[in-house]
Amino acid sequence: MSEQPAPEAFPVAQVVLVIPADRAFDYRIPPGLQGMIRLGARVSVPFGRRQTQGFCVGLVAESEHAKLKDITELLDAEPLLSPTMLRMTRWMADYYACSWGESLAAALPGSMRRVRRGRKVRTVLLRLDKTEAREEAERQEKAHRPRARVLQALIRGGGELPLARLIGEAKTSVSPVYTLAKSGVVELVDREEPSALASLGAIEPEPPRTLTEEQATALASITSAASGGGFGVTLLYGITGSGKTEVYLQALAEVVAGGRQGIVLVPEIALTPQTVSRFRRRFERVAVWHSALGDAERRTQWQKMRAGQVDVVIGARSAIFAPFPRLGLIVIDEEHESSFKQSQSPRYHARDVGVVRARLENAHVILGSATPSLESTRNCELGKYTLVRLRERVGGGRLPEVQRVDMRQEIAELKRFTLVSRQLHEATRNALDRREQVILFLNRRGFSTAVLCTNCGTTLSCEHCDVPLTFHKGIGRLLCHYCFTELAPPSDCPSCQVPKLVYRGFGTEKVEDELRALFPKHRLLRADSDTMKSRRHYENLFEDMRAGEIDILIGTQMIAKGLDFPNVSVVGVLAADAALSLPDFRASERTYQLIAQVAGRAGRRSEGGQVVVQSFDPDHFSIDAASSHDYGSFYKQELENRRELGYPPFSRLMRIVVQGKQPDRVRKFAFRLKGELLGAGGRDEVAILGPAPAPIAYLLGRHRWHLLVKTDEARIRRRVVDAVRRHQALRGAVRCQIDVDPYDLL
Ligand code: ADP
Ligand code: ZN
Repeated sequence: MSEQPAPEAFPVAQVVLVIPADRAFDYRIPPGLQGMIRLGARVSVPFGRRQTQGFCVGLVAESEHAKLKDITELLDAEPLLSPTMLRMTRWMADYYACSWGESLAAALPGSMRRVRRGRKVRTVLLRLDKTEAREEAERQEKAHRPRARVLQALIRGGGELPLARLIGEAKTSVSPVYTLAKSGVVELVDREEPSALASLGAIEPEPPRTLTEEQATALASITSAASGGGFGVTLLYGITGSGKTEVYLQALAEVVAGGRQGIVLVPEIALTPQTVSRFRRRFERVAVWHSALGDAERRTQWQKMRAGQVDVVIGARSAIFAPFPRLGLIVIDEEHESSFKQSQSPRYHARDVGVVRARLENAHVILGSATPSLESTRNCELGKYTLVRLRERVGGGRLPEVQRVDMRQEIAELKRFTLVSRQLHEATRNALDRREQVILFLNRRGFSTAVLCTNCGTTLSCEHCDVPLTFHKGIGRLLCHYCFTELAPPSDCPSCQVPKLVYRGFGTEKVEDELRALFPKHRLLRADSDTMKSRRHYENLFEDMRAGEIDILIGTQMIAKGLDFPNVSVVGVLAADAALSLPDFRASERTYQLIAQVAGRAGRRSEGGQVVVQSFDPDHFSIDAASSHDYGSFYKQELENRRELGYPPFSRLMRIVVQGKQPDRVRKFAFRLKGELLGAGGRDEVAILGPAPAPIAYLLGRHRWHLLVKTDEARIRRRVVDAVRRHQALRGAVRCQIDVDPYDLL
């Protein structure tokens, strides 16, 4: 496929459509387009009764079908997809069990998948203030639920949302929106698409820094591997603040000097103006790729990259598909981050796709992390990747001292429940006295994380999901974090009708309340997805922290990475063991990573900082190892655990979720599927756990069962994928999904 056949000779094009069926359709190339349609070309074709877009993936002399429809239109002068992109997306379809059309769609910006043009975005504005809007929503709740949902979505969106997004979030059609518009509650306007490029502005260039010895050694190892022009992967394992980014920058500079291009992936949340500007100071032709880009912007950037007018793209997950003509280097910062894994089909992992792409294009890959994934460290041990280490902080700063607090003991000694231990309270007070900043971390939003009845023991859960409702004090509502259903807190238990409901568990809202009480004169900011609705909020937070206008920052994982504030000297982790109780074999690894990352926020200046880690299980090996900055001993122990249980990196997993409205049919289907899958391999070659009800056994109105397939054999994985695909094609009352190398096991 790497060579374009002479197109004249082939009157039939094989076209892949963006649909779930994994097959190509034959179309006749009409005389007017003869010789013009090449592999990777985007075409418009009739399909059923409509006109749709597709991609030419093959050119043949004849078709086995007698009557072929004609291709209607060739949509671009040049093929949109290179032969490598075709190969990579074909690999994705096979590996991640999606259709080729779906993996092609994932690799292209959304605007290229539609024939639609135009730059205006229909936007809905709320015409009421917040209180009025809430009252109106209450009223509509009784009169017309879709209208109530529209209002709630608008309130959550800060009073303004694009129409398409609004109806998606409110799970409704446009008609309730129009009704609300007629009565003057909302207004529809056409907004210009926001331009992210325009806001980039001019920037002062900066020369490369003189590397430390460690950095120089790391760079030399990378460039000598990369200069051969061959494929290779380097794991750059460097503690927080060790100067990994400088190494990326200089490795990229060499690649760019050689006329090739580089992709830098960072977790979406770390794609801050600060991060972007570090790259823009070094390279003139930088593109930024993230989810907030408008369609027109995306198209322009994509075309520039394809034309070789961009040297470096920095972006989130989907930037891995940047259409560079001569890709030389892929940098994946925070390679252990699970946000590189897409949760919707195609459920690809950008790091793994990156390694495959680099192999196809003879490029080099740098995986960077202070807490590498077990998979990548193991690949170094096996000699597949090269390990390069940075052991010291630039400028000689020490890693912060970590204090572990046993909250069982703390509560026993105080004889009352508390969120903030005496140690953390004191450390915070001292830091504030020294006019330094404090970050408090808790990975749960809301006020109370459970509402339960002390009379009958019922925990209030969502009517559509088997998930406890969280009380959000700011809006005075109970919220389901999975389907966004919200309702007013009842006064009586819905199950026994006795007014004995109590609010338990704590989220960031409660921490904020408590801290305000403890430090009434200081400036607090809470950063979670309730308060940080847009990029703009997040950028403000950033500037305010830098300017010293915030004393205490309280937040979820949103603040755990990518932020580098020199004046933060104390970091508190409020419930370090929160993730340990989850039924997920990565629970320990996540706990280790989170503590290490959060701790890395403290003491970026040379005096070193202080970290207080509170938990009910302080002796757990992941908390213990993270507290002594000992990745080595964590890795050893965790690797042993995985080996014993046969989990990755000792096997590959595929998770199959079966769901439907009738619990009996779901269960039966899951057992039948297991039978089929066992037939896919010999007894020793495939291990299947389950079927069992998924940890979230009921979600968005559907019952869920799951199966976990463990196997190392590519051949068997193929058969499992094929079996699941056959069922997916049927689309009956019970549906199944497959997730290859899953990160979400709930
Ligand atoms: P990491 O990504 O490993 O956490 P950074 O790349 O953010 O670390 O580096 C930490 C700090 O050290 C940054 O402020 C960076 O500008 C600075 N720095 C990195 N390398 C050098 C160097 N060789 N000389 C001087 N300062 C450096
Ligand atoms: Zn729900």
